[in-house]
Amino acid sequence: MKATEVIADLRRRFPHEPEYLQAVEEVLTSIEDVYNEHPEMERYNLVERLCIPDRIFSFRVSWVDDKGKVHNNMGYRVQHNNAIGPYKGGIRFHSSVNLSILKFLAFEQTFKNSLTTLAMGGAKGGSDFSPRGKSDMEVMRFCQAFVEELWRHIGPDTDVPAGDIGVGGREVGYMYGMYKKMAREFTGTFTGKGLEFGGSLIRPEATGYGNVYFLLEMLKTRGIDLKGKKVAISGSGNVATYTAKKLLELGAKVVSMSDSDGTVHIPDGLTDEQLDYIFKLKNFYRGRIREFAEEYGCEYYEGEHPWLRVKCDIAMPSATQNEIDGDDAEALVANGCIAVSEGANMPSTPDAIKVFQKARLLYAPGKAANAGGVSVSGLEMAQNSQKLNWTAEEVDEKLRGIMKDIHAQCVKYGTEPDGYINYVKGANVAGFMKVANAMMAQGIL
Ligand code: NDP
Repeated sequence: MKATEVIADLRRRFPHEPEYLQAVEEVLTSIEDVYNEHPEMERYNLVERLCIPDRIFSFRVSWVDDKGKVHNNMGYRVQHNNAIGPYKGGIRFHSSVNLSILKFLAFEQTFKNSLTTLAMGGAKGGSDFSPRGKSDMEVMRFCQAFVEELWRHIGPDTDVPAGDIGVGGREVGYMYGMYKKMAREFTGTFTGKGLEFGGSLIRPEATGYGNVYFLLEMLKTRGIDLKGKKVAISGSGNVATYTAKKLLELGAKVVSMSDSDGTVHIPDGLTDEQLDYIFKLKNFYRGRIREFAEEYGCEYYEGEHPWLRVKCDIAMPSATQNEIDGDDAEALVANGCIAVSEGANMPSTPDAIKVFQKARLLYAPGKAANAGGVSVSGLEMAQNSQKLNWTAEEVDEKLRGIMKDIHAQCVKYGTEPDGYINYVKGANVAGFMKVANAMMAQGIL
């Protein structure tokens, strides 16, 4: 396989899907050598089958707002690959959602889920509906209309959705409620559910906590202590807030948070009380990070990400894709950043990744560093099928173990001759090998 040829062909067939092509290119260039050591994979044209989703559902979602106006959004589910387990991946509600973004996320999810060591295939879904500014009842009606169409395609052993941007506990609750009504079953078809109806302890915290556990493993390879380090975080949603919580617990300083309107800079480090304020602001009042800056008299950078302005030792992007470009990456390196651990999916552009790797930073791609979320989703599925609940300590301990294991796989497949750990290559090769071997064993489907 020549990665450039496969990518050129996909570019010709899917010319309007830049995020999908970006994700595919990153994976294919890093697995090319390993793939070419296995001529049997080439005979099965495995690489093309791995890049193109098994199937995609798209549908219209019509719903009525509080004033009686009818809205029509698009809904999608991309079932990418189920070679190693049922399709599994979040649902994103954001005005920017389109097929390119969901295809990139489902593709990435396939490798991420493989890395977790749990039996989960890859999928992703969503809608261009934005919950921002909508009432509770409007969000509920939208979720119900979305699931009225989606429910036929999902199930506890078929496809198990969860949250993502714009989809938290509230939205999962509404979607699960409607699913239960349509399918007439009470099973673990969604993860991220409320604790009262099958949710797992530590699932809300898992992506953020897992990212910090992964960071600790990376720092250990260079004998660096996290305590006292300045960490810039982007976003102020699920991943960002629980990343901040674990960092504060471990004695690091969180010097920024953001949302899609701007960034707040906290040079002396966020306090527990301030984090609590952000948590309530975002989850209960659905407010803006600007209001935090006003409340605590912090600097606020309208319309900006943290990377150009905020000096930090460690960056943990936890908002969205392509939020760190080449210039941002240069600024981070120039300002003394030593590690980047991605909470978001694909937050660094290819140019940014080149800058990080050239500067020999500890750089962990999202598919490794943020895999804690889907890992605990996998643990939620396991608890649901056994109809029992594990304690928070049990789940947290399993999560730590999984993040350690993912790190070890990255080291195994990504260590370069000079000792530098290329986490991108390590994660891609480790994730790929398992899925590829399973696909080979199952024949051409
Ligand atoms: P949330 O919706 O809870 O939070 C997203 C945060 O990012 C919000 O602060 C939001 O701001 C901000 N944001 C969203 N889009 C943009 C944008 N275009 N520019 C700047 N800021 C933006 O989502 P999550 O925390 O769940 O997800 C964050 C990232 O982590 C995503 O990339 C997601 O795919 C990834 N992820 C999430 C997992 C999970 O378990 N939830 C698991 C693995 C990865 P605003 O409030 O203004 O919209």
